[in-house]
Amino acid sequence: MKTKKIILPDGEMPTRWYNVVADMPTRPLPMLNPATKEPVTKELMSRIFVDELVDQELSEDRWIEIPERVQEIYKIWRCTPLVRATELEKALDLPKGIKIYYKNESTSPAGSHKPNSAVAQAYYAAKQGLKRITTETGGGQWGSALSMASAMFGLDLRVYMVKVSYQQKPYRGLMMNTWGADVFPSPSDTTEAGRAALARDPDDGGSLGTAVSEAVEMVMTHPDARYCLGSVLNHVVLHQTVIGEEALRQFEIAGDYPDVVIGCFGGGSNFGGIAYPFLRENLVNGRKTRLIAAEPTSCPKLTRGKFEYDFGDLAGFTPLIPMFTLGHEFHPADIHAGGLRYHGAGMTASQLLRDGLFEAVDIDQVESLAAGVLFAKTEGIIPAPESTHAIYAAIVEAQRAQEAGEEKTIVFNLSGHGVIDLYAYEQYLAGALKNTVLSDAEIAKTIDTLEKLV
Ligand SMILES: *Cc1c(COP(=O)(O)O)cnc(C)c1O
Repeated sequence: MKTKKIILPDGEMPTRWYNVVADMPTRPLPMLNPATKEPVTKELMSRIFVDELVDQELSEDRWIEIPERVQEIYKIWRCTPLVRATELEKALDLPKGIKIYYKNESTSPAGSHKPNSAVAQAYYAAKQGLKRITTETGGGQWGSALSMASAMFGLDLRVYMVKVSYQQKPYRGLMMNTWGADVFPSPSDTTEAGRAALARDPDDGGSLGTAVSEAVEMVMTHPDARYCLGSVLNHVVLHQTVIGEEALRQFEIAGDYPDVVIGCFGGGSNFGGIAYPFLRENLVNGRKTRLIAAEPTSCPKLTRGKFEYDFGDLAGFTPLIPMFTLGHEFHPADIHAGGLRYHGAGMTASQLLRDGLFEAVDIDQVESLAAGVLFAKTEGIIPAPESTHAIYAAIVEAQRAQEAGEEKTIVFNLSGHGVIDLYAYEQYLAGALKNTVLSDAEIAKTIDTLEKLV
């Protein structure tokens, strides 16, 4: 391979999303209506979500066509580059047989993988004739992606943004405003859920769980509005599979194939997006690629959580979801990887982890930021704090292979850039970043509340 960048020619972008449910050895358990404990009905879900997204959520079809209008918008930035990280490899002094690639999702206009689903969700909302949507955002990436997509499809958007992120990243909020969205720091005084959180603690810095409650409450009190979610649910992961499908073809062009595929893990959308197409190759075509999800040590639902039915939000407005969870009342530390501060894992990822079809690792904030700085100094891109977890995991895999004297091809998803998240780097460079130590007792406190749910 002569060139460093491998970019598919125009028109080679995938035209279908891949639904992993079709190939899962064990199908995910159904989501339950918390009132009846029966599987949720389409009618109930349609009150909260856009109709076509509910259909996709419940679909077991292997392939779902990407609407032409969505493909047109994807083409603004897709295909995204698959890049051989030669400069990082040199800095790590890796032998020839160990290769690190990254799929660069930071090239989207909003700076992350999130627009892959935001554009699709806004398209279906507009197609249904809706005028208004709401959402929550942690690090601000999803809020900005959906703001951009809402502007493109003429939708009014209200965003509840986790307060610590709102304060740490004022430019994220301004991006959303520029695309025309209204942004509220959460907990806010605009909803019951927000007011309750503020009554408990006026200085509450917020969490994704609280922000989801606020956004869903808005929808429940406004019949003409629907709620859009940026991760966790399978229709979101589905939209992200363009990442892995493109990567499969790019590896084919490069004449290479990964032994290890890595993604950072918040709710599971960028991990599933890059990993599920490779999982299909494992399940259907006998490939043996290892898939690794990298989560923060301070929010370890995959490595220390429990598989249970749980709510997706703090107030308990969502259906009960079968997932690896720390309990919906778990309050993660205010780490900088805001997009990874979520108590539960998506349904497909949870079932696949139960079945041993991928691995999970947890990584401390200081170590992951250090890996991010090394990546910035070598490959030039300042990664999102979330993505630094994947970078760290990739470096560990490369070094293990080196110690074992093995050849290895590793690819990780660079889920976003960190240019709007420089506050994290400021803290890191000042030596002010801290790791979080979570005791078993602390985790048990919120997990033990789950037994009475179902
Ligand atoms: C939102 C976000 C994540 C985490 O969400 P997933 O659904 O797990 O992908 C990771 N990286 C970036 C840059 C994000 O914006």
